[in-house]
Amino acid sequence: MPRADILVYNIGELVTFHRGPQPRPRPETAGIIRDAAVAVRGGRVVEVGPSSLLRARYSAAVWINAEGRLATPGLVDAHTHPIFAGSREDEFEAKLSGVPYSEILARGGGIYRTIRATRRAGRGELLRLLLGRLYKMLAGGSTVVEVKTGYALEPKIELEHLEIAGEAARLTPQLLVPTLLAHVPPRGEPREAYIARFLGAIREAAARRLAVYADVFCDRGVFTPQESAAILSEARRAGLRLRLHADQLAYIGCSRLAAQLPLDSLDHLESMPPENAELLARAGAVAVLLPTSIMAMMQPERPPVEALRRAGVPIAVASDYNANNLTPLAQTALQVAPYILGLTPLEALAAATVNAAASLHLDRLAGRVAPGARGDLVVWEVEGYRWLGYEWGYNMAAHVVASGVYAASWGRLLASVS
Ligand SMILES: [Zn+2]
Repeated sequence: MPRADILVYNIGELVTFHRGPQPRPRPETAGIIRDAAVAVRGGRVVEVGPSSLLRARYSAAVWINAEGRLATPGLVDAHTHPIFAGSREDEFEAKLSGVPYSEILARGGGIYRTIRATRRAGRGELLRLLLGRLYKMLAGGSTVVEVKTGYALEPKIELEHLEIAGEAARLTPQLLVPTLLAHVPPRGEPREAYIARFLGAIREAAARRLAVYADVFCDRGVFTPQESAAILSEARRAGLRLRLHADQLAYIGCSRLAAQLPLDSLDHLESMPPENAELLARAGAVAVLLPTSIMAMMQPERPPVEALRRAGVPIAVASDYNANNLTPLAQTALQVAPYILGLTPLEALAAATVNAAASLHLDRLAGRVAPGARGDLVVWEVEGYRWLGYEWGYNMAAHVVASGVYAASWGRLLASVS
């Protein structure tokens, strides 16, 4: 009798997804299996099949009865900024009373305030904060998390933040994907001088294998398309993969960089002209959309979802967890995506799993349930995918398995970290 570490059985509806990306997810092509079971051993899925068959075939150390509910791949959060200290709840109130972000910045608040707090925090404090955030994400079903730096600015300290991400990766069953982010140009240093120093950090991060990705915040008032292209070209030469914050606050041509650089993802796109969707499709890039960031920014603009659909661009959603948007769960982004972006429940689920994995170049390993893929699975409180976003507003992950480890039910886990 074959042994499994974990056997999840009595799954009413299992959405497996075929290997991504999925530009137009439909129920007929989502790999939906009724009355299913999943066997996990050694951190990987070993078999997916009918519940009664696998129950009879396997002996398992841990049995999880899904009680007829929905199970899906573990969520892949493809855009987070979780390495920072401090908070800005007073700015939340100021924003609501009509103070523009530009004025908050002029008062020394906003991102520069988080950078000051982060620099004051010790390394152990930052690791503890990061782990607390990762465990909340895990409890919500995020089994793969992209982790960006960007709150140090000083290139040497950005590298230390990548080391902290590496330490966290050894302490969680989640797969972490570290990204070195050029977040904002510092004040009081010529931009060219700073960029030159940042390129040094890129080369070192690549040489020491501290980062998988490089990313740049390309936007009005931040880095220009020309500066972004220079930074990402150097990152590519150094062997890093590329993603880009593009067209969030205004359109200054950032998403056009998809035509000249091999970008795995373009993120935000709230201000992207719809005609650029064709360009993303030709480039084979994933559009990573961030619905809770739109809420936190109190922004009227929306990414051109219909144009992206028509062009066949795979859409992912992510939490964009950061000091201005304290929503740790990719699950929340999935839940509000129908309301903020107009995604169907199946599109939102594909966006938080198989397409998010494709945006991280992980579509073989994550975002789907198949033999050989990571042993990542979420059993939900609801009975089918149509309920995702229909019912919402609480943590609906009933059981989370990450890398073949039972990560406990969310209630117990949250109790242990709060
Ligand atoms: Zn971001």
